[in-house]
Amino acid sequence: MGNTSYDLIVIGAGPGGYVAAIRAAQLGLNVAVVEREHLGGICLNWGCIPTKALLRSAEVYHLMGRAEEFGLSLEKPGFDLAKVVARSRKVAGQLAAGVGHLLKKNKVKVVMGTASLAAPGEVVVTSDTGEQRLSAPHVILATGARARELPGLEADGDLVWTYRHALNPPRMPRKLLVIGSGAIGIEFASFFNSLGADVTVVEVMDRVLPVEDEEISALALKAFRKHGLKVMTGASVKQLDRASGRVSAHIEHGGKVDRQDFDTVISAVGIVGNVEGLGLEALGVKVDRSHVVVDQFCRTGVDGLYAIGDLAAPPWLAHKASHEGVMVAELIAGKNPHPVRPESIAGCTYCQPQVASVGYSEARARELGHEVKVGRFPFIGNGKAIALGEPEGMVKTVFDARTGELLGAHMIGAEVTELIQGYVVGRTLETTEAELIESVFPHPTLSEAMHESVLAALGRAIHI
Ligand SMILES: Cc1cc2nc3c(=O)[nH]c(=O)nc-3n(C[C@H](O)[C@H](O)[C@H](O)COP(=O)(O)OP(=O)(O)OC[C@H]3O[C@@H](n4cnc5c(N)ncnc54)[C@H](O)[C@@H]3O)c2cc1C
Repeated sequence: MGNTSYDLIVIGAGPGGYVAAIRAAQLGLNVAVVEREHLGGICLNWGCIPTKALLRSAEVYHLMGRAEEFGLSLEKPGFDLAKVVARSRKVAGQLAAGVGHLLKKNKVKVVMGTASLAAPGEVVVTSDTGEQRLSAPHVILATGARARELPGLEADGDLVWTYRHALNPPRMPRKLLVIGSGAIGIEFASFFNSLGADVTVVEVMDRVLPVEDEEISALALKAFRKHGLKVMTGASVKQLDRASGRVSAHIEHGGKVDRQDFDTVISAVGIVGNVEGLGLEALGVKVDRSHVVVDQFCRTGVDGLYAIGDLAAPPWLAHKASHEGVMVAELIAGKNPHPVRPESIAGCTYCQPQVASVGYSEARARELGHEVKVGRFPFIGNGKAIALGEPEGMVKTVFDARTGELLGAHMIGAEVTELIQGYVVGRTLETTEAELIESVFPHPTLSEAMHESVLAALGRAIHI
């Protein structure tokens, strides 16, 4: 059976777990990672990566429809959903295989099976070939999360889908209802809308992308409607009546309930942590609404036991999971890592147009007692945006009026998911408006809108 005793055992090989394992191995620890399904976790197999591959097809298709505007000609654009999905699955497969190579290269032992804790430092792995026991003084729980299912609105894979079904859909929806306008819901709504489906999004909160700055949510709503999405905010789906090939949704809005028919429903109402079956209760690990309670170093309160990524506190994003993985590996190896600061982690939504943000919204900054200075710059004033044919969008920056510290940045428009990293670095370095103004941004780039937004906060924008 070989070695069963390690310095560290990581349970779950998603972006939290596999990155933690590799970093710990780099630091000289003898590491095993246990995975029950796929190396790469949700992110590589059923989340970040395959959705972006689908959205890329949608983007190219959308641009094909605009060929004439760019002086190009094209016979009627078309698509083959099976081929679009096959490309997405191939991309996911390539990256998941890459994780296997990386783990091997770093001499991390991969054990396929379902893990649970028999005692602190004692891990039982169950698989088709039986049961094995592993031990280590340190265990990182990185078991991630799955789609939340609301009673009566459960997925069946045929008429009602979760993200997993939507990533490998049995058909092209014609009339689609998306429940929830967070990043996952909006990305699928955007994808199927671009391919020509008639899409309705129902959001219980009073605005779309509810975690974003209110002004960005409002611009996003306007853009989504312009692109043909039907959006109902302050509305909720109470019931789904399923019949052959048809779902009748009871949608409550403004105090009354309407019924609307759809051929497909995607439920995107959040996630729940994979806390079950791990043996947490017996160890006294605290769980709050399906997520493990941890301190700023991801410690669970049980000696040597850590929880990272989607299993632990928000934001539930892959880069947060990976960063926590690195931090915990370094902590275990006796280094002195900084805790992860959730307010400096960017959130990105790859819809049409894209949305990205970091730090505090204007409202949140005010709530926290900051007197704020706000800069806004529209993409219509940016040369590169016009040249790209992407004038839709805005960059909003929020500064502390007294110290000039960058508190938050909020963007909507082309490629903002690539641009936001500039402000992330700024947040990490606790930058001020003066330093951002001193920075010279290359021309012509969309990033100049980031500079102009800072200038606008001081009433100094040049191109508007
Ligand atoms: C459709 C979709 C799109 C997304 N897009 C983005 C995006 O663009 N950007 C972004 O940052 N985030 C995105 N996310 C979120 C991102 O996927 C997660 O934040 C990330 O995967 C969390 O990483 P993790 O390592 O904590 O968990 P996971 O990736 O969920 O990995 C956990 C792993 O643990 C394994 N496991 C669970 N229990 C056990 C057990 N008992 N024994 C052994 N193995 C176990 C699972 O099989 C899984 O492989 C998206 C999510 C979805 C669903």
